[in-house]
Amino acid sequence: MQNKILIANRGEIAVRIIRACKELNIPTVAVYSTADKDSLHVMLADEAVCIGSEKSKDSYLNINRILSAAISTGCNAIHPGYGFLSENATFIEMVEQIQMRFIGPSSKVVSAMGDKANARELAKKLNIPVPEGSEGEIFSTTEGLKVAKKIGYPVMIKASSGGGGRGISIVSSDEEFVQVYERLALEAEVSFGNRALYIEKFIESPRHVEVQIIGDTKGNVVHLYERDCSLQRRNQKMIEEAPSTILNDILRRKLLNAAVKIGKHLNYVGAGTVEFLVDKKGNFYFIEMNTRIQVEHGITEAITNIDLVREQIRVAYGHELSFKQRDVKINGHSIECRINAEDPIRGFLPSPGRINNIIFPGGMGIRLDTHIYTGYKVPPYYDSMLGKLIVHAKTRKEAIRKMRVALEQFMIDGIKTNIEYQYLITHNPEFIKGQYDTGFIERFHLTVEEGLKNLE
Ligand code: ADP
Ligand code: ADP
Ligand code: MG
Repeated sequence: MQNKILIANRGEIAVRIIRACKELNIPTVAVYSTADKDSLHVMLADEAVCIGSEKSKDSYLNINRILSAAISTGCNAIHPGYGFLSENATFIEMVEQIQMRFIGPSSKVVSAMGDKANARELAKKLNIPVPEGSEGEIFSTTEGLKVAKKIGYPVMIKASSGGGGRGISIVSSDEEFVQVYERLALEAEVSFGNRALYIEKFIESPRHVEVQIIGDTKGNVVHLYERDCSLQRRNQKMIEEAPSTILNDILRRKLLNAAVKIGKHLNYVGAGTVEFLVDKKGNFYFIEMNTRIQVEHGITEAITNIDLVREQIRVAYGHELSFKQRDVKINGHSIECRINAEDPIRGFLPSPGRINNIIFPGGMGIRLDTHIYTGYKVPPYYDSMLGKLIVHAKTRKEAIRKMRVALEQFMIDGIKTNIEYQYLITHNPEFIKGQYDTGFIERFHLTVEEGLKNLE
């Protein structure tokens, strides 16, 4: 049987996967919702199947339609991308049951790590530090209050099945705890279909540093160094860079070893990311593992010169990784800006609509992963990310300069974007020095708002 891959996703990541498949000479099938009929991934794939209406739950989350599309077009593998069904263990189990290859780890591994409270317990068992907190999930307000009292406020209440920065709340007192707990459980039930919550000590002004790993069916699990994703808004990443500016050799080694230890313990097959927080004193804590390709994988590709999506596909088909740990070296510095259809000065309000004109940046060391084109209509139903601008240069300073030029020369007409906002960040002294933490953008935003008020 000839290999053929169905891509169960949309937007830039679907385009990214199609490119990797074409290079590997594997035919592709795109799926799309009625809102995405004019989308780039539909045009670029060899075949395309409409799987339902605009709403994600009717199309990109519609398991039966996706599986039918895969079977009827003769696919033997499914690539889930990120988001949507990529970490849905039920979906993966169904893929396994119809003798289709899932491009990612097994349903067993995904269900073990997809439950964040459970993943935390596993890390503890492997002697990897986690923030102080509950033993697994908590089942009542009374139980939660006890844990919160013991570890001391502020604490974070987190949904076990949360993701994309959603399902997380910080609370500073018993009263607040009681108020937030029920609301968050309900929210988690509605958004993730699981009301389970757990508690973690709030780590003050941390850095988010994550390690990319990949494993094959021959028992190899290797790391591809780290990414620093501390520049976040509402716990969602906005700018990422690799390598991290805060790790010394010893701390880096500890993080890499911890990540590989988890991967080896799971007999991990596929690409995965182990996320940590690093506090001001250099203590590190495991927070979660993402069992899929990550949005920001491109910066790792830039500094290691390894095509992660290609390797993902190869290992899913049972091939050995095409490189060994000793072949993975850091070369230069890479930065990514997520370009979103949103209006930063109106509370980052999503800004869907028609793109009248675009000028794309380019040049040496510049990569733009996107699905947009002139005339494209950004639908209001999905994530507002339009693409990822990735730069690669010898040093961090050169990478920052390159990013500024690229942002300057990137013009999108017709909808609001965060391009200028990203441009401002690249000129901020704390950012330039590499001295920021996960609260940076919130503080930065206050000064932007202040500045705008002065203009009125
Ligand atoms: P990354 O860790 O790769 O940076 P993000 O957290 O930005 O990923 O999430 C990537 C995409 O996946 C976003 O569109 C986000 O909303 C979605 N996503 C991630 N996890 C979940 C989840 N558990 N449930 C629903 N959507 C999710
Ligand atoms: P998601 O599944 O949505 O990606 P994570 O558990 O990875 O959720 O957390 C997302 C972000 O929230 C982190 O990168 C960090 O900025 C913040 N965060 C999570 N847990 C803590 C914590 N215990 N203390 C401080 N910040 C945290
Ligand atoms: Mg995370």
